[in-house]
Formats: sequence, C-alpha cells, structure tokens
Amino acid sequence: GRRLLIAGNWKMNGLRAELAELDAIAAAVASQDTGPGELLVAPPATLLAAAREHLPSDVSVAAQTCHHNTRGPHTGDLSAHMLQEAGADSVILGHSERRTDHRESDEDVCARAQAALAAGLRTIVCVGESEAERRANETLTILGRQLDGSVPGEVTAEKLVIAYEPIWAIGTGLTPTPHDIAELHAFLRNRLALRFGHAFASCVRILYGGSVKPSNAAEFFALDDVDGALIGGASLKATDFLAIARSA
Ligand code: 13P
Repeated sequence: GRRLLIAGNWKMNGLRAELAELDAIAAAVASQDTGPGELLVAPPATLLAAAREHLPSDVSVAAQTCHHNTRGPHTGDLSAHMLQEAGADSVILGHSERRTDHRESDEDVCARAQAALAAGLRTIVCVGESEAERRANETLTILGRQLDGSVPGEVTAEKLVIAYEPIWAIGTGLTPTPHDIAELHAFLRNRLALRFGHAFASCVRILYGGSVKPSNAAEFFALDDVDGALIGGASLKATDFLAIARSA
C-alpha cells in the first residue's frame, strides 16, 4: 500500500518563466491525467511561494535543503520554518550535490532533518555511492552508514522518504540495472527495519534517482521496493515529468 511518489528536483534551475511548467502540471492534475502517483516539485527557494500558488494543493512543494538552526546569524541560509512559511511541505536533504558542494556530512544532514521535522516538513533523505566506492565494492557499507547517520531517531514513517541516488548515475544517462536497484532498495528497507521495526520500514517510500527518463521509468516503478523517483533533468519540462508520472 505505498503510493508512488514522483518527485522533481529542479536544482539550481528555474526563473519565473518556468512557472509555465507548473501550470502545465496543474492542468494535467485538473484533467486527472497524471497517473496514480503523488506528485512533488522542488523548485529553487526563490520560487517556492510562486510554486505553491501555481500548483494544486495535492501536489507537494519541497525545498532543496534547510539550515539546522531555527534562526540566527547565518547569512544566506534559510530555516525550515521559513521554507515552510514560503510554501514548502517537504525538504530534500543530503543530496549528493549538497554533500559535495557544501561538504554536508551525515551528522549535518541528520541535524537538518531534525530541524525540518520540528517545522513539520516531510524529509526526503538522499543516499548514494560514488563510482569509486561502487568499484571498490563499498556500496552497501556506504549506503548503510549514510542511512544510519542521516536519518534522525525520532522520525515517523509518514514524515520520511528515502532517495537512493548513485552519484555516478546523476546526470550521466547511466543507471544501475533493475536487478541492482531492487537489491539495494531491499537492503535499505531492511536496514530501516533493523533500526525502526518492520511496520515502520514497510511504510517508508524509497525513491530511485539518477537519469530517470520517460523511457526507463516504468521498469524501475515495476520493482517491489521502488516507490517512486527523484528526477533531475527530466523534471524541468512538464511533458517529460508527466510522461514519467503516467508510466507509473
Ligand atoms: P538526473 O535525473 O538529472 O540524473 O538527476 C537526478 C538527481 O540528482 C535528482 O535529485
């Protein structure tokens, strides 16, 4: 009974002109032409308020990170409450680009997740191995460590989504095989079960991310432990995003 989540991560893309893409999504929702999954869009923070206005209430709006403090002298940062007030109901945390560009550690991600949960935001926690880690057969070690270290102990299953994004698959056109994705998602769910119990783990949605396109989404959605997708490049055009949603 896990409903698929089709999530678009716009990253550092999107000016007001791109709100037309959200209008196209809204039109598809109005004509019930979006497939069975829940939709989510994560625009840049500058467009959160406008995105909330352009999208119907059953499409989620997410921020792409948040600070771990509620307020204070942190020039350029945004608190979870600020993002919530601007229109976000969710936040993506620990994306590999944040881990790389801003040196976010598992501890940092965990602290941000705690702040997000305190502000009532659903947290989408990203994990994923690099190409070098994969080649060194360290994938399970890395994923286990990231999951344990990034997810706070007090989270509830409804407020938690996990995104498995192998770094080597992001923006490259490469993807793991469905067999590998199935195995790694099962590993992640089992790891959640060890810590939080089976009932909890069976409720948490685990998304796959990395070069998801209209042409390959269906084979990922067919896998038991894949509960949706976190889509980068192909989420920027409503036609592609909706094609992925409809293939669910
Ligand atoms: P691409 O879909 O562009 O590979 O990006 C995936 C991603 O990083 C989503 O968060």
